[in-house]
Amino acid sequence: MSPSSVELLRQIKSRIKEVDPSVVHELIGARNGSANGASSGGSTGAPVLVDVRETDEFSAGHIPAAKHVPRGYLESRIEGIVPDRSTPVILYCAAGNRSAYAARTLTEDLGYEDVQSMTGGITLWKDRGYEVQIPRALSTEQRERYSRHLLISEIGADGQQKLLDAKVLLLGAGGLGSPTGLYLAAAGVGTLGIVDDDVVDLSNLQRQVIHNTQRLGAPKVDSAEESIKALNPDVEVVKYPVRLDASNIMEIIEGYDVIVDGVDNFPTRYLLNDATVRLGIPVVSASILGFDGQLSVFKPYEGPCYRCLFREPPPAELAPSCGANGVLGVLPGTMGLLQATEVVKLILGIGEPAIGRLLLYDALAATLTEVKVRRDPECPICSRDPEDISDEEMGVFPDYEAFCAAAG
Ligand SMILES: [Zn+2]
Repeated sequence: MSPSSVELLRQIKSRIKEVDPSVVHELIGARNGSANGASSGGSTGAPVLVDVRETDEFSAGHIPAAKHVPRGYLESRIEGIVPDRSTPVILYCAAGNRSAYAARTLTEDLGYEDVQSMTGGITLWKDRGYEVQIPRALSTEQRERYSRHLLISEIGADGQQKLLDAKVLLLGAGGLGSPTGLYLAAAGVGTLGIVDDDVVDLSNLQRQVIHNTQRLGAPKVDSAEESIKALNPDVEVVKYPVRLDASNIMEIIEGYDVIVDGVDNFPTRYLLNDATVRLGIPVVSASILGFDGQLSVFKPYEGPCYRCLFREPPPAELAPSCGANGVLGVLPGTMGLLQATEVVKLILGIGEPAIGRLLLYDALAATLTEVKVRRDPECPICSRDPEDISDEEMGVFPDYEAFCAAAG
């Protein structure tokens, strides 16, 4: 007569060795504690911890450093994980039953000499308050949403995770900020900060496509957030309905991975440059006027900073920064998407970002030309170590605002 499943389990457990989670916890702790490479040495060898649960269970959380071999694949895969049959093996599952069967298989069928099953499984392990590692995986919905990224070998699931973890700050939700904001959101950049103290005006809608006619008069940060959320709920929007100035810039930009500069005035651009060089944050900068666009990536200490190119602001009367200027409505779309592309490259660490290069786009001629730009060894900002620029100095930026006021 065949034994009942309960009786069978009892028989199996009487034939294998079991180990309490507290002992496993100590073994793992000792291994993590000894960073001198002692783990692989010794005649007995460190035990290998193997999780025999199904893939979805393992993905939901497992013991740190555990190898994963689902019980159904034990016979075919264990040799790849533990080639030496004298190596001690500790198996665990959810509650200690499947690992007991697996221990019997390893010992009696496959000839492993030192196999133990952890009693109570990961359930008891968690009850004891021991650490569980949750591997980060894209959800089913995310795998579908970003499937065209997953198909590119330079991006893939790891790259998509980098994008989801990235924090990008948009300076302005205007002509350039509109396309960059929309496309970075669509690409799955997980956190988008937006600095803008303006409201949506009818004259914006010729180019600022993140806003729409229904939202006239609404704060641009709110309107942009609504569009981004509707496009991709994965994205967290952080709103700064303020003007960037010397009193708030350090607080706002710290912690962002990349800054997208769509600033349309010189004073803020210099202020931004000094602060980002100090904090080591790369800036993807673009500007537009008429039918012409410019773009460059300023990565502190890898290429020139903005002041290396333009040591001083132009005379106030020549600065096209303080009033309204004409621009082809399509142009900020072109330049904004070049910016978004550079941002994605910086986050993923792929390609050749436009560091030390100024790209000049002439929409009427349909030409893109490139000017090499070098670091200025005499640069008042980036020729110094960031540590040499004291906190006191950082708080005291020149009065750039007066510059703009002087332009009338
Ligand atoms: Zn510089």
